[in-house]
Amino acid sequence: MEWCRRLFMIDFDVIVIGGGHAGCEAASAAARVGAKTLLLTHKLETIGEMSCNPAIGGLAKGHMVREIDALDGVMGRVIDRSGIQFRVLNASKGAAVRGPRAQADRKLYREAMQDALRHQENLEIREAAVGDLLVENNCIKGVITECGEELTAGAVILTTGTFLRGLIHIGEEKRPAGRFGEAPSSGLSQTLARFKFSLGRLKTGTPPRLDGRTINWSVLTEQKGDDPPIPFSFLNKEIIVPQISCFITGTTSASHELIRENLDRAPIYSGQIESTGPRYCPSIEDKVVRFADKLRHQIFLEPEGLDDHTVYPNGISTSLPQEVQLELLKTIPGLERAKMLRPGYAIEYDYVDPRELHESLETKKLPRLFLAGQINGTTGYEEAAGQGVVAGINAALKCVGKDRFILDRADSYIGVMIDDLVSKGVSEPYRMFTSRAEYRLVLRADNADQRLTPLGQSVGCVSGERRVAFESKLKELEQARSLLGALTVSPSVLKKRGISVAQDGVTRSAKRLLSYPEITFKRLEKLWPELSAFSLEVQEQMEIEGRYDAYLDRQAADIEAFRKDEALKIPADTDFFQIGGLSNEVREKLSKRRPPTLGAASRMSGVTPAALTALLRHVRRPAGFSG
Ligand code: FAD
Repeated sequence: MEWCRRLFMIDFDVIVIGGGHAGCEAASAAARVGAKTLLLTHKLETIGEMSCNPAIGGLAKGHMVREIDALDGVMGRVIDRSGIQFRVLNASKGAAVRGPRAQADRKLYREAMQDALRHQENLEIREAAVGDLLVENNCIKGVITECGEELTAGAVILTTGTFLRGLIHIGEEKRPAGRFGEAPSSGLSQTLARFKFSLGRLKTGTPPRLDGRTINWSVLTEQKGDDPPIPFSFLNKEIIVPQISCFITGTTSASHELIRENLDRAPIYSGQIESTGPRYCPSIEDKVVRFADKLRHQIFLEPEGLDDHTVYPNGISTSLPQEVQLELLKTIPGLERAKMLRPGYAIEYDYVDPRELHESLETKKLPRLFLAGQINGTTGYEEAAGQGVVAGINAALKCVGKDRFILDRADSYIGVMIDDLVSKGVSEPYRMFTSRAEYRLVLRADNADQRLTPLGQSVGCVSGERRVAFESKLKELEQARSLLGALTVSPSVLKKRGISVAQDGVTRSAKRLLSYPEITFKRLEKLWPELSAFSLEVQEQMEIEGRYDAYLDRQAADIEAFRKDEALKIPADTDFFQIGGLSNEVREKLSKRRPPTLGAASRMSGVTPAALTALLRHVRRPAGFSG
């Protein structure tokens, strides 16, 4: 890309603003694709900071971490170097909804992230606050730091999280901040407003932090992690970080009474906060009001590190006044004498309506400006990181005029998230759930590499090490598939081995036998000992594929139909007012949002089946024909 920088006389190909979860992935992805990249962030030591809970993954979020890893992103490898408790959530349920999760040692996570970025070729990291964007002829040219330095680039990615006009609330107290102890970013908010971006306000919150030495652990329920812990990254076979337990407690009727008595001092009820918070991650005061008949709310006490006494009480995010928070702790078993190290708080911040973005995460208003992370109305590290990878790859591709890298709803949760954001926008902080994905059986955490690594390879963001590991796994998978299809056995032999199937004289393949719920790969090994040569990873894959075989075929047909709609492109210059059969309201919506495909139009609210038929007619009309 050197020629490109020289030709346009720019300092960098890509500049990333912000060293949070979106920024780290964006910078790493752009650099992996080959772009000379600069990461600018407030403080070097907060790169990779976990602003809220020290945990990565969970239901649907764990899927996204595996997808990021499959594209050679950093999050999976970093949590494997810093995770102190690994658990697969929903382990007893179907493979599609199992969610890997790991609690992190907060300091180790930061250090591992900083180390990963330091060793990334093509990436330079500098400490600076960005105050404005350099724009020429309505196109991004670079950034201006708050010290007045101008840095030019072919593309800029903004990943400022909760910092845009951030305002912290603790009871009646309000103070401007990007997160606890850090200044907000107001200049960039003004810049976005100047370019007429549609800005909104959202809210999120965090619980108080406790001193673990003052908690009475003996009365609490212990929760151990999985043994052995299962790594996130497809490149890792084991976890070597020491593992710890978490503990469970819960609120009491006294806690609920105290909260009710002080509701008028809670900013979300006193009217001090007007913006919307995450519905699925409510504050404790919100839970007590919304679920008034519930007598207890569970609290997970999560140690924040191996050599750190700080404990994160997951489940009591609050912005009640500090003295009420202290009183609240006294009503919770095990926390009666707990020392509060830092109060919980709520934060309000600006976000950009994500309908301002293309699926590549480039803004429609300012070409070459990309947005990723919480700035787009999402919440969560994984959601931010997933967008970061896509923005990073696309910014790098843009610099050399290559085609965009788009993930769709059928190949990843990341694709589902971006499609939801750009086509529907948000009315509350957007969080990923398995229920948002139509093709859940295909979009599993265990097969993220098979879905995405080849796509990553096609745009050059996958390292040689991963390519070699992936190709060797693919080879083993092919061998296993073909062997399982070739090995057959008669019902009478199965009966003799204690496996009951209909005695119909029809031989069954090993693959077919795996579709029986009670037949595991281990049982097949008793019939065919040669199967034990396959790695545990491949054995698990074969079991899942065998179990869901018929459903996977059906989903493949659904995906084919979906892709047909996605292939029906709506030209960017379409005049929707010239298309017959559309209401004026639909015409206005389509003109404003400009969905790129018929599929994207179908997911916009208010676009009716009749409107879609009219659009389909228009898209399929012969060239030169209007109306
Ligand atoms: P961030 O991680 O916020 O990173 C932003 C980065 O940009 C920082 O490094 C900052 O220094 C840098 N930056 C900002 N402005 C500038 C500038 N002008 N110049 C240079 N650098 C700049 N998520 C959940 O899933 N569940 C929760 O319960 C939850 N609670 C939260 C509670 C609080 C109080 C906060 C603050 C966040 C919470 N989150 C929660 C959200 C989670 O922390 C974010 O979703 C995630 O960190 C977003 O990542 P990001 O990369 O978009 O932004």
